[in-house]
Amino acid sequence: MYSGKVRDLYVPDDTAADAAASRLLVVASDRVSAFDHVLEPGIPGKGAVLTQLSLWWFDRLAGGDGGRGIPNHLTGDEPPAAVADRAMVVAALDMQPIECVVRGYLTGSGWAEYQQSGTVCGIPIVAGLTNGDRLPEPIFTPAYKAPLGEHDENITFERTVELVGVENAETLRALSLEVYGRAAAAAEERGLILADTKFEFGLDADGVMTLADEVLTPDSSRYWDAAAWRTGETPAERMASFDKQIVRDWLSAHWDGAGEPPTLPGEVVERASARYRELLVTLGA
Ligand code: ATP
Ligand code: MG
Repeated sequence: MYSGKVRDLYVPDDTAADAAASRLLVVASDRVSAFDHVLEPGIPGKGAVLTQLSLWWFDRLAGGDGGRGIPNHLTGDEPPAAVADRAMVVAALDMQPIECVVRGYLTGSGWAEYQQSGTVCGIPIVAGLTNGDRLPEPIFTPAYKAPLGEHDENITFERTVELVGVENAETLRALSLEVYGRAAAAAEERGLILADTKFEFGLDADGVMTLADEVLTPDSSRYWDAAAWRTGETPAERMASFDKQIVRDWLSAHWDGAGEPPTLPGEVVERASARYRELLVTLGA
């Protein structure tokens, strides 16, 4: 029914119409995107890594590591065998049009804004921080989920309230900060920094705010090697990161952004593929 840059959504047609309408099959492909372009070729095994990581985190967050259970969109149904290792059967939710971003560290667009104005997404941040520094406390910096083809847009908490109502906005913020806190602590035990991440939530049939989409994957999060991190010394760009930085770096060096992006060389594809798998092993997922 829908093909995103990375994932394809299917509605099952093998069950009664009512039941089918309430479930979706989300299939993660090996496609990789950078700077909003889908690149050629894909990264072997990437779809499986994204799916396994999401399933592992959903399970932990549902109660596995002691905190209160975070409801998620998994139905418990087995996906079809042909896509077993890279698909999830989920409840079709009333998705909130908000990308729920939580940042624990100063980097990327947050660092750029901080240098200009001393704020991150409009939130004032203590002066004197440098690229890659830990923020005094994690912050919720929502973005409006733009319709297909448009860029997501950073918004204030007040704008979030206007879009989804005060109750939903406060629930989204509280859940996002809680999930980030628990995930960052779990990652730290494995020698990883969870610098920032993005969640999506939707309301289930009973009106319960439910964690959806993919969670805490290298596509939705920045994971860094904690051993390589030094406050004020190591710029974020040079940190060992477990996301698609390898692909972004190669593309920035070999493409000026005009026309179609060049084909990724085999060596870059192999390094990226290994890096995705390494995160799974490092986390013990
Ligand atoms: P992009 O290509 O920029 O990533 P996208 O996020 O829309 O766009 P994908 O991530 O490939 O594309 O596709 C996943 C889509 O499925 C998202 O639109 C997401 O909001 C939606 N989605 C995830 N979980 C659910 C759910 N439980 N119910 C309904 N929609 C969902
Ligand atoms: Mg997406």
